[in-house]
Amino acid sequence: IIEITNLKKSFGDTEVLKNVSLSVEQSEVVAVIGPSGSGKSTMLRSMAYLEEANGGSIQIGEEYLVKDGKYPASAKIKQITSRMGMVFQHFNLFPHLSVRDNLELAPKLLKQFSSAEIRSKSSDLLNKVGLLDKADAYPSNLSGGQKQRVAIARALMMSPEILLFDEPTSALDPELTGEVLQVMRQLAEEQMTMVVVTHEMGFAKEVADRVMFMADGEFIESGSPEQMFGNPRHERTKAFLNRVL
Ligand code: ATP
Ligand code: MG
Repeated sequence: IIEITNLKKSFGDTEVLKNVSLSVEQSEVVAVIGPSGSGKSTMLRSMAYLEEANGGSIQIGEEYLVKDGKYPASAKIKQITSRMGMVFQHFNLFPHLSVRDNLELAPKLLKQFSSAEIRSKSSDLLNKVGLLDKADAYPSNLSGGQKQRVAIARALMMSPEILLFDEPTSALDPELTGEVLQVMRQLAEEQMTMVVVTHEMGFAKEVADRVMFMADGEFIESGSPEQMFGNPRHERTKAFLNRVL
């Protein structure tokens, strides 16, 4: 469902994504690991069109978000990116909106569904992440783990086919990571297609179908969690895993 081919992205003279290729099947969970500054966030942000690539292709299903460095018209870009939801390290909730309004803002602006339908969906999703009782609370009154669960529910409001996670537990106190990982585990069980940039090697081992190691703007090695954690082939992967495990 995702096919990234030879993706390139520079900021000024700095080549951040040199040549990134990634192929993700429907319902697959891919964990992306790698050192700080290797380009993991830039890759995810390019997929969500929060960054514009300088070259290469990103195909979502049959459609191209970018083909050989060329983007389609903005209506088409919006249509393609609406098939993906993104969850950030720092939650990115709107502080002046209640939990429920955080979920309902984007769908209401799109006017695709009635208010009643949107209300019923936000209730279902808050229930799913265990936060229906916090619907009227504001983000500042939630714990980090609760904020991240709201952010996941918000990402699900547009019924995305794919979820992109950028270090969803990195900003959390260790005792709060479990509740977020549990929601992600449940989504994986429900066959959601997910690309998860993570430092949680435990989660990658347990939930990912495939682990990909990025360094210096390229994928160096990929394999099953067993292979990547048990028997990495490349020196750089070994060195990285030695540092983090
Ligand atoms: P981390 O694990 O620390 O989150 P990362 O793998 O996500 O790292 P990126 O955030 O993708 O890495 O950044 C890769 C490189 O691109 C870094 O050297 C960073 O400084 C640079 N970079 C990222 N965004 C920008 C930007 N908007 N302008 C200039 N340079 C940027
Ligand atoms: Mg990052």
